[in-house]
Amino acid sequence: MEYQRVTGEELNILRGIVGPERISTGESVLDLHGKDESFHPRRKPEVVVWPVRAEEISQILKMANEKRIPVTPWGAGTSLEGNPIPVCGGIVLDLQQMNHILELMEEDLQIRVEPGVIYKEMNQFLSRHGLFFPPDPGASASIGGMVANNASGVRTIKYGATKDFVLKMVVVLPSGEIIRVGTNAVKSSSGYDLCRLFAGSEGTLGVVTEVTLRLVGLPAEFMAAIVQFNSVRDATNTVSQIMRSGLSPAALELLDTPIVQLVNRYKNLSLDEKPTLFIEFHGTSTAGLKEELDVIKEICADNRAIRIESGIGREERNRLWEARYDVHEAIKVNHPGHSPLVIDTAVPISKYPDMVERSQKVLEEKGVKGFAFGHAGSGNLHMEILGIPEKEAEWQKVQEAGEEIVSYALECKGTATGEHGIGIGKRKFMAKEHGSSVKVMKQIKELLDPNGIMNPGKIFE
Ligand SMILES: Cc1cc2nc3c(=O)[nH]c(=O)nc-3n(C[C@H](O)[C@H](O)[C@H](O)COP(=O)(O)OP(=O)(O)OC[C@H]3O[C@@H](n4cnc5c(N)ncnc54)[C@H](O)[C@@H]3O)c2cc1C
Repeated sequence: MEYQRVTGEELNILRGIVGPERISTGESVLDLHGKDESFHPRRKPEVVVWPVRAEEISQILKMANEKRIPVTPWGAGTSLEGNPIPVCGGIVLDLQQMNHILELMEEDLQIRVEPGVIYKEMNQFLSRHGLFFPPDPGASASIGGMVANNASGVRTIKYGATKDFVLKMVVVLPSGEIIRVGTNAVKSSSGYDLCRLFAGSEGTLGVVTEVTLRLVGLPAEFMAAIVQFNSVRDATNTVSQIMRSGLSPAALELLDTPIVQLVNRYKNLSLDEKPTLFIEFHGTSTAGLKEELDVIKEICADNRAIRIESGIGREERNRLWEARYDVHEAIKVNHPGHSPLVIDTAVPISKYPDMVERSQKVLEEKGVKGFAFGHAGSGNLHMEILGIPEKEAEWQKVQEAGEEIVSYALECKGTATGEHGIGIGKRKFMAKEHGSSVKVMKQIKELLDPNGIMNPGKIFE
């Protein structure tokens, strides 16, 4: 696609739409909007605009579409695959100022929000009403970014991913048309499910300007456990068995030995430096949770667990889970100058033990350093494989390792990305994962965005 650059004429039009105070071409602002949390090369936009209404976004897209100027929506910039990097320049629409909670429908367990709302802040607000929104990507992400990437995280195993919570959306199409999709009913068989089309579309089909989310009640009781093993195979076999046991954990996470070592140092903790599972259950009574804990202990003992520590109640849960958070930060701080290539494969749960073992073997064979952890209960394996992109030979090995690991996940009938999205980094796996259905995806893109202005260079090569 050929794109036009943003000239003084377009800057004047943009100023006319949003006012001079909500547009910037300042170098530091452009720099900030030219990168996310990934290693992917930076690329500055030509202008950043902070709209506050769908109607403003509609006018901006209309103008950009007529003039063939790329537009990239921006949430909080915490993506790990280059998803919001404006690789073709143009306009970045930063949605941070559209950060209002518009309506809480307490009796229906629903909330209507603008896309710039930060999910952690929304959950603080909801906790005062005994409610919460379960998808939890850890980083300080916006609801718009979570919807666009179909984010999930530690609690997906019990509650589902962001897509499963989106009931309705307002979307501005690349033509400038504003459409409403979805329903407040929690089930519907009416027509094509456009909510599920826009959720996970990474800003390539339109701009989400309002979202109605389903909520759940805050759990009355929490139970948590840390379980340690001598081998990662014992830990991952335990994961498969727990998932087949009929129990319904709220979270089931894996940290392999090297990352436990790192987190011990980073947070001054004293965990045994062994493969570790972090488990959480939500329930209505401590008696019920104790029964579940007994079953967990039995399964762990059958798999040669060497240490189990458990506790009931929210405080105990927070204490036991301390080591699970800030893993990305611990790796970053301990490896200055290195960039991580992030693995986000997800496989059917029976294949998880093989997936983890094969991935570690690949690192050994390639002679590269990487850390394995992940949302094990959902079959989701994260690895951060470290290297310096400027050192070509070294980075080549990092990339080869990444490709082998993702290819193995696809052989296991899994996916290249469980939650981070395709962005730039996983485009090369689209054909292998989806075969001829990529053609249908491209036809949908062409139908909604014939001039290819929305977040170009993402999802498809
Ligand atoms: C330490 C760390 C841990 C993480 N852990 C997880 C995890 O456990 N699970 C997980 O899922 N992710 C995780 N992530 C990745 C990231 O936080 C999520 O992908 C998150 O959803 C990105 O949200 P954001 O607001 O930062 O969006 P951005 O990065 O700003 O944008 C994401 C994508 O959405 C598009 N977009 C943004 N807003 C809109 C909108 N209103 N309309 C249309 N398109 C839009 C952008 O163009 C881009 O393609 C982690 C990131 C970090 C740094």
